[in-house]
Amino acid sequence: MADKIYSQYPPSLSPEQEEYLVQTVKNWTIEHGLCVRPSTAIVSEGANPNNVLATNAPVTLFPSPFPKSCFEQARSLQQVYNELYAAIASDEQWLETIMKELIEVDDFLANLWKIHQSVKEEGYVQDLSLGMFRSDYMLHTPADSPPALKQVEFNTISSSFGGLASLVAEMHTHLATFPTPEHPAAYPPHPLLGNSNDTSSIKSTGHPPHNAAIPTLTASLAAAHEAYGPSKSQAQLPTCILFLVQDTERNVFDQLALSTHLYKHHKIPSFRLPASKMLAYTSIPSKESNPSRPLIYTPPYSPSSQYEVTVVYFRALYTPTDYETPTSWAARHHLERSAAIKCPSVLLQLSGSKKVQQVLTARPPDTDHLKSFLPHHSEETLEGVRSTFAPQYSLSATNGADESEGIRLALDEKTAANHVLKPQREGGGNNIYRANIPPFLNSIPKEQWKQYILMELIHPPTEAKNTALRSDGQVASGDVISELGIFGTCLWKNSSGSTKPEILHNTEGGYLLRTKGKESDEGGVAAGFSSLDSLILYE
Ligand code: ADP
Ligand code: MG
Repeated sequence: MADKIYSQYPPSLSPEQEEYLVQTVKNWTIEHGLCVRPSTAIVSEGANPNNVLATNAPVTLFPSPFPKSCFEQARSLQQVYNELYAAIASDEQWLETIMKELIEVDDFLANLWKIHQSVKEEGYVQDLSLGMFRSDYMLHTPADSPPALKQVEFNTISSSFGGLASLVAEMHTHLATFPTPEHPAAYPPHPLLGNSNDTSSIKSTGHPPHNAAIPTLTASLAAAHEAYGPSKSQAQLPTCILFLVQDTERNVFDQLALSTHLYKHHKIPSFRLPASKMLAYTSIPSKESNPSRPLIYTPPYSPSSQYEVTVVYFRALYTPTDYETPTSWAARHHLERSAAIKCPSVLLQLSGSKKVQQVLTARPPDTDHLKSFLPHHSEETLEGVRSTFAPQYSLSATNGADESEGIRLALDEKTAANHVLKPQREGGGNNIYRANIPPFLNSIPKEQWKQYILMELIHPPTEAKNTALRSDGQVASGDVISELGIFGTCLWKNSSGSTKPEILHNTEGGYLLRTKGKESDEGGVAAGFSSLDSLILYE
């Protein structure tokens, strides 16, 4: 059934139909801000003085089919996942046992841990934390079985594309329903698109479900802003949210969709500040003058105005290349010790590491981390979360054995062929796949192996196809693989001496579908591998 759905979709296009569809997408994207700043690989610096140009984000021409039951399962698990990661980030001791061996071999994680230690010693002045999460899945379709939902990873920092993904769903809905749903001008008849007489056995929604990522994500920023309370400065200052961005950010419009909505619907001002300017334009009063350490932002273009920052939303500083200026680590430390609510705190960022995700897959009776982090949830709910785990392995030799099962699977060519090796990094382009795993491991010192985890490959439907309009205007058609992300948010409070968070706000809402050529292992849109997509749900 699933294969039939994918093999006969999308409907084929005549050259005239494709031209109309591409032209409509080209215009719609620019008209509605479904855009990115082009990389220099697409437009040279000389042809783009002052970086004034923008182009369409890479998008698929059609929404991709996705089983309704799996989509609903992913949505139904999100609030449990939110709570799970809030609980992990609240249990410093547990995290320390996980991080200990990584810190020995990974400077990036070691520096983050040092910042946490140093702020802890001084004393944290903010007991609230905000998580804006995205749980990523692929469909796993082993032979003769119905598709099952498997988690690729859980993101706790800079979970992007909520803004643009909402627009893609709108664009595909427009294409599927203009001028009428029965006779859309852009899409030829097809049962999945709800515009064909052949309604045979497939039940579908005909157009993508509404995508609530923008209101969901901004509502969590607004909740954190409210929870911060009034200005802590001696002479009360107006408050704001700070979007911490990369110096050379190209995915600007995704972020602006959130800040614009935040102001329009919540009347909360927000400002964008590149990470390299953080120390120059924010300050914390001395301990003597104000021990509550408010973070004060002075906009460079308005030096006479000052704002107190309630929430710092990190869209930067998640990867080692973000820390290449001499002040980056000092800036991270500066933010961590301030009274602003961090989205995320250092501990929450570390909670999202691949290592934690591997450790969580341990099943009872061996260990039951899920039960200890989520004691109030039923076994059925916990089993629902476990059902989304693909097998994952540690690469450190444990319990006195010379080799762990992970090392054995990774070094044997035959078993490596069904695995991916992941370092503790975010942002795409870091993994090592299949046959490359054994030679890679053999090329580095054995003591370094423990910084990786090994994960069994998820096998998505093989017959899926789609066409994408790339940011350079090229149209590419072929076999594709899709990855679903579900957005969720959580605001919580930690009280000293307790490892249990007090949850104040816990929501699910909005999704991202990224679709890539089948030949590509990696999945990132910003890294240039994938296109933004949306869903046609089928039963
Ligand atoms: P990153 O933090 O770099 O995004 P991910 O774990 O998401 O790390 O891996 C990057 C990409 O690699 C994913 O988007 C997906 O396309 C692919 N990938 C990761 N894990 C698996 C897996 N178990 N099976 C198949 N593909 C995977
Ligand atoms: Mg990813």
